[in-house]
Amino acid sequence: MFIIQLASECAPIAKVGGLADVVYGLSRELEIRGNAVEIILPKYDCLRYDRIWGLHEVYRDLWVPWEGGAVHTTIWFGFAEGRKCFFVDPHSHHNFFNRRTFYGHGDDDRRFAFFCKAALEFMLKSGKHPEIIHVHDWQTALVPVLLYEIYQNIGMRHPRVCFTLHNVRHQGVTGPHLLWSVGLGRPEYFLHPDRLGDDHHPGALNLMKGGIVYSNFVTTVSPRYAHEIRFTEQGCGLGHTLWKHHAKFGGVLNGVDYDVWNPEIDPHIPVRYGPATVERKYENKTALRRRLWLRDRFCPVVAFIGRLDHQKGVPLIRHALSWCLANGAQFVLLGSSPDPAIQHEFQELKRHINDNPDSHLELAHNEELAHLIYAGSDLLIVPSLFEPCGLTQMIAMKYGTVPIVREVGGLADTVFDVDYSDRPAEQRNGYVFKTFDHGGIESALVRAVGLWNHYPDKFRQVMLQAMACDYSWSEPGRHYLNIYEYIRDK
Ligand code: ADP
Repeated sequence: MFIIQLASECAPIAKVGGLADVVYGLSRELEIRGNAVEIILPKYDCLRYDRIWGLHEVYRDLWVPWEGGAVHTTIWFGFAEGRKCFFVDPHSHHNFFNRRTFYGHGDDDRRFAFFCKAALEFMLKSGKHPEIIHVHDWQTALVPVLLYEIYQNIGMRHPRVCFTLHNVRHQGVTGPHLLWSVGLGRPEYFLHPDRLGDDHHPGALNLMKGGIVYSNFVTTVSPRYAHEIRFTEQGCGLGHTLWKHHAKFGGVLNGVDYDVWNPEIDPHIPVRYGPATVERKYENKTALRRRLWLRDRFCPVVAFIGRLDHQKGVPLIRHALSWCLANGAQFVLLGSSPDPAIQHEFQELKRHINDNPDSHLELAHNEELAHLIYAGSDLLIVPSLFEPCGLTQMIAMKYGTVPIVREVGGLADTVFDVDYSDRPAEQRNGYVFKTFDHGGIESALVRAVGLWNHYPDKFRQVMLQAMACDYSWSEPGRHYLNIYEYIRDK
């Protein structure tokens, strides 16, 4: 099958969060299974150009219809760690993708609407006929709308669209001006509540909703989150739309790319190890302590890796830090925040505990350090308020780092409590708490750190059970192929 993935991120060259890992990992798995996969991305100035091989122009004069005129655009091609990627590079005074960051600009709706339009125009003009176009999150949600309302009538009859919701908190709610920008026009038609009209802001366009309505199939990144966004306030207003389109909606758990995240072959960690050599993990713990100026002593290292966002449970991360320092554990954090208030809060915290030899806060994005933290820590916390899937707990497990998670979204689908799960004892792989408060996370920290301190053999058993879990792309890859085949043949 010929599949095109269209997204605003792809690891490792354009990564903000889990979306990037998913686009890369799924594409790789689909290729391994014998499919032709191409990825289309914006040509951001902040791409990791050092990780792109053979970058060159492949379509120099693409004129993309835009706001009544046309934007001269070049399409580039290069390999990102083996994946075939095309890059959209508009030459316009808007400078859509030369902003030094991926997101967070006042005109993000226009930047990504242009990207959708340009990608379709490129497929049309270069004669690409993918059977499946897989789009991700609101940034690419206009693709099915444009495909069915415009491009199908001018020659693109074949492609079917699969749309994956990675996070419904961000829906791309914007004004109807965008309809004019991309050549759709007819606001009275598109603003209808059955199409792109936002259910809660009269007169506003909801791009994610449009993606749901117009796609042939809609997935989200875990079965639990699929349920939560249909039936609880976590749907952020999309529950009704998902209910209406439930026949083409389902949850597919994300996978982890074990070629990148695997302590047996990881080039970023000083000592490699696997289930049979798990004691070698402790050499990485020593290396981690050295790297982050932590003192060497007999105690567990508790880590957090992730975006410092409201979603990730900022007050509970802070509380875990104080709890660890008060209860003889060490605490390591790797994270950054696009929100200046949260970034400032953590900078203050970092200043406050700067001289503490039992904690380190690294307020940056650092892919290489992330590998060392997964390998060198004993426990990893994911105290999210909501979590569509979450990758850090799955990556941690592969490294024998026991996760402590809140029972929500994909965390609830992947972590089974050592003491309370209804799963057989040999399938339990971490600690789970329910309530989003200090008492909740403490109840899990006490049990986890207690087991580490007093029952090392049992703790080691939990580590091995976590390492034995298979959260690779193999199963989700098969799932996605079934979906693609189903919509292609329908
Ligand atoms: P989200 O998509 O909500 O950001 P996920 O848990 O799905 O969260 O994915 C997070 C991914 O981003 C993981 O691969 C994690 O290792 C990585 N990551 C997050 N923050 C950082 C950081 N500051 N430095 C390096 N990697 C990070």
